[in-house]
Formats: sequence, structure tokens, C-alpha cells
Amino acid sequence: MNSQLEPTLCFPDGEKSCFACCPPIRPHGYEHIQHKNAIQRMLRENTSAFAERKAGLSPITGFSCWALGYLDKHCNLVGCLLHPAQNEGKDLRFSVDYGDKCRRENCPEAEIFLELDINERKFWLHLADGLDSFAYSSKRINPVFKMMGWGPRLLGLISLNEDGRLFTKESFFRAYAFFSTRLNPRAYAYLLNQLVCENRVDMLKTDSFRERFERFSRRLSGRLKQISSPVSGTQYTHRLGLDPHFLDFLRLSVGISRIEQEEALRLKERVDRAIGEFATI
Ligand code: SF4
Repeated sequence: MNSQLEPTLCFPDGEKSCFACCPPIRPHGYEHIQHKNAIQRMLRENTSAFAERKAGLSPITGFSCWALGYLDKHCNLVGCLLHPAQNEGKDLRFSVDYGDKCRRENCPEAEIFLELDINERKFWLHLADGLDSFAYSSKRINPVFKMMGWGPRLLGLISLNEDGRLFTKESFFRAYAFFSTRLNPRAYAYLLNQLVCENRVDMLKTDSFRERFERFSRRLSGRLKQISSPVSGTQYTHRLGLDPHFLDFLRLSVGISRIEQEEALRLKERVDRAIGEFATI
């Protein structure tokens, strides 16, 4: 488990944890909070049964894992009872049939969070103050999940712009009117990151910028959809060696799943030109 000095997205503090991806295979759109009472009961049962379990492989059945339990005596933290942090450094996750998947995987939001420095992490985690582990593990309720989609550079610029000031979830969305947008952050992070530099962060505080950006980005992706096809090459878009935010824009906003590198570069020139024109208006 993390120390207090180095919060991770999974373990931000001693009051809550994220267990959204346990077990790693679940129905689309599933969130633990939708079944809170039943899961709390299951966590209590798992935690008390764990001490009596005999070593050896015991596969996961259905959509719940027998190794998911409470990690503290107040039942605030939810996590993996087989994790090395719970077993004096021994990793016992081989005991379930997802062993390698459990060890290997991190969600994209957690990867972005790891790119933030300690002050930036504290700034963003403040938005989740007061949430319990169920609410914190919900992509719909926990604003930190959604904000991570805008990328570490922009998140760092905002925290720098506030120079130590901290926000609650409510005060942040009041101050930064842009982020009440319904646009998918990962689909449009490329465009926004190209437009916002250190001395222009305050434009994210206005409704007018949000409205202009929404019109611009929808129009741009609509134009690109008209001139390109979803499969225009053999290369998977996300595997090309270009800016990952741009590749997300192509995939999630324009809908291109495969494309050749040269064609992607041609589209990038076009997009960068459009961003330049938008910035000068
Ligand atoms: S073994 Fe641990 S990490 Fe894997 S699904 Fe179960 S609780 Fe989660």
C-alpha cells in the first residue's frame, strides 16, 4: 500500500481506496456502488473467510472475487487480500485464475495520475474529499477519474495556476466553467492541450470559451469524418508512433480505428492548422 507522502489513485489516503477494477472482467457499465449493500456483505464475508482459506488455486466465479475484502479494521479501505502489501511482501495473487492480469494491469487514469508530481496529485485528489471507497471507485461520481482524461500536462498547468489554492469538487467546477462540458476528455484532450498554455489557463474559467471550443471541436471532427474512413489502412491507430492524445482524437472523436502513418500525419497537419486558426480568433 502507498505511504501518506506518495498517494496513488488506488490508495489516495487512509479513508478510501479504489477497487473499481476488481475483478478485471465485469459487465460493461457495471459499478460496485449500484449494488452497495450486497457488496458490503460480500466484503465482510470474504474478509472473515480469508483467514481460514487453505493455500492453492481457487478460481474466480461470476463477477466477484473471493479475495476482495476490507483492509482495515474500520472497513473503510477495500482491496486485494492477496496483494503483497497485505502478506509481508508475498504476492499470493497466483491463487486466482486472473493472477497475471491482476498483477499487470493499471487503468489509464492511474497511469496519468502517476505522471503528476506530489503537489499536483494532492490538488486533484482534494476534489474527491468526503467520498467513501464505493463513491471513489465510481467513474460517474468521482470527478478525478474524468479529469485525468485531459492529460497530465493540462492538469499540471491548472494546479500551477492555482499556486497552492485547493478546491472542493463543487468549488472547482464553479471556478472552471469549461469542465462542465459533456465532451469526452480523452477524445478532445489533444485539441485542448494545443490551445492552453501557462498564461492562458484562466480562459478555462469562462462559459464563452467552453461554448466556442465545443462548436469548434464538433465541427472539426465532423469535417474529418466526411473526408476519411474508419478503416483507411492496416495499422491500428493507437499503435502509431504519434502523440497519444492525437491518436485518441482520431480514434474517439473521428472514429478512425486503422490508418497508415502518412495519412495520420496528413490529418495532423490539417488539425494543427485548424487549431492555429481557432486560437487567433
Ligand atoms: S485477486 Fe485481488 S486484484 Fe485480482 S480480482 Fe481478486 S481482489 Fe482484485
